[in-house]
Amino acid sequence: MTQRAYIGLGSNLANPQAQLRSALDALAQLPDTRLAGVSSFYASDSLSPGQPRYTNAVAALDTSLAPLDLLDALQGIEADQGRERKERWGPRTLDLDILLYADQVIDEPRLKVPHYHMHARPFVLYPLAELVPEDFRLADQRTLASLLADCPFVGLERL
Ligand code: ATP
Ligand code: MG
Ligand code: MG
Repeated sequence: MTQRAYIGLGSNLANPQAQLRSALDALAQLPDTRLAGVSSFYASDSLSPGQPRYTNAVAALDTSLAPLDLLDALQGIEADQGRERKERWGPRTLDLDILLYADQVIDEPRLKVPHYHMHARPFVLYPLAELVPEDFRLADQRTLASLLADCPFVGLERL
């Protein structure tokens, strides 16, 4: 069955905008998956001090890949684009996170959905808002509008 998933994209190394464009091409080519929408690109301040600014976006996928298969596919794209995991939250060529997978709540060692910190990240919420209806709710019934109201548009710039 096809499910709607939302993917958060981020990069702050090696031409971030080009990294996001390549990642979007790769997402569009995943098996059993259609790239259904892409937000604007945003520049955002890094959550870790001293790192270059990030470029972020959110993509909507209609996919029949199961959640862990989708995670494997996303990690494959990250690896293809030179993602190295040296330190947690270190600078990276590409980060692809599953923000939402239909209205599922997933709590597995490798995969927590909704993404654990999305509700407090302006670089996730504002691009996501471009892709969903105004009255969009998360699985826990919180509206995206209420999350946005508590998450100021700070450190963010729409490109
Ligand atoms: P953050 O999670 O704070 O955004 P990060 O994206 O830099 O940090 P990564 O190094 O990309 O973290 O991922 C660490 C691990 O998080 C991955 O190996 C993956 O198994 C796990 N993970 C858990 N939930 C998710 C999710 N919703 N999307 C992507 N990875 C997830
Ligand atoms: Mg991340
Ligand atoms: Mg990640």
